[in-house]
Amino acid sequence: MSEDSLNDIIRDTMELVKQAAHPRTGMLKVSPEVAALFEGITAAPGGGSSGETVASIDTSAGVALADDLEGIAAQVRECKLCDLCEGRTQTVFSDGSCTADLVFVGEAPGENEDKQGIPFCGRSGDLLTDIIVKGMKLRREDVYICNVIKCRPPNNRDPQQNEKDACEPYLIRQLELVKPKVICALGGHAAKTLLKTEETTGRLRGKWHFYHGIPLRVTYHPAYLLRSPGEKKKTWEDVQEIMKVLRGEYTPTP
Ligand code: URA
Ligand code: SF4
Repeated sequence: MSEDSLNDIIRDTMELVKQAAHPRTGMLKVSPEVAALFEGITAAPGGGSSGETVASIDTSAGVALADDLEGIAAQVRECKLCDLCEGRTQTVFSDGSCTADLVFVGEAPGENEDKQGIPFCGRSGDLLTDIIVKGMKLRREDVYICNVIKCRPPNNRDPQQNEKDACEPYLIRQLELVKPKVICALGGHAAKTLLKTEETTGRLRGKWHFYHGIPLRVTYHPAYLLRSPGEKKKTWEDVQEIMKVLRGEYTPTP
């Protein structure tokens, strides 16, 4: 069997497994015998309704993820979990420092990012660099930059929910491993994915949120700021609040 048709079968099977799983928790109840076949996926003991033994497997990642950033980046390079794999030149995983105190999360690679394999390396990237360097007085190489989606959507269209769901486990693990002190969500796709909300960027910005206990600030996406330069002042204000936390002058509490 060709590698492509095997990947198609794996993708279709994952889709069926996900549809059968609990919509919110991603957990699927299976027998302990089946759970034992899923090597590398933790089976959690679950209570059967009438005393039968069941186990739950976490289908949210689909595959066991590596436990270091280089390993995840390698898994992403091979990933075919959603259709965006078909149009990519290459995957775009991260830029900057793996030990950064601050992580920026954007939306998805654009044309330049797809060509170079580096997040935020086009016009939006120049503005993000300005925000970091001029607005925050930091160096771009001292922060960690990544996206919700690792492959470029065709014609830069918005990523779809199924694509965000498929790609999210990589982002979750990235954040677990970098363990920043502050996260900055750039725009609605990052904010909605991280905070599990439907609120707009305009309503989410201006206050502290928390992602698994990590203080998170939402601000406008640089691409939006390029279209609406009048809003730049608000992003400048948002990043000053981030700096207060990074400098230890303020500690947000949930
Ligand atoms: N926009 C994003 O959200 N991410 C990039 O990497 C580039 C543009
Ligand atoms: Fe995989 Fe994410 Fe690329 Fe989809 S966008 S193929 S889930 S790496």
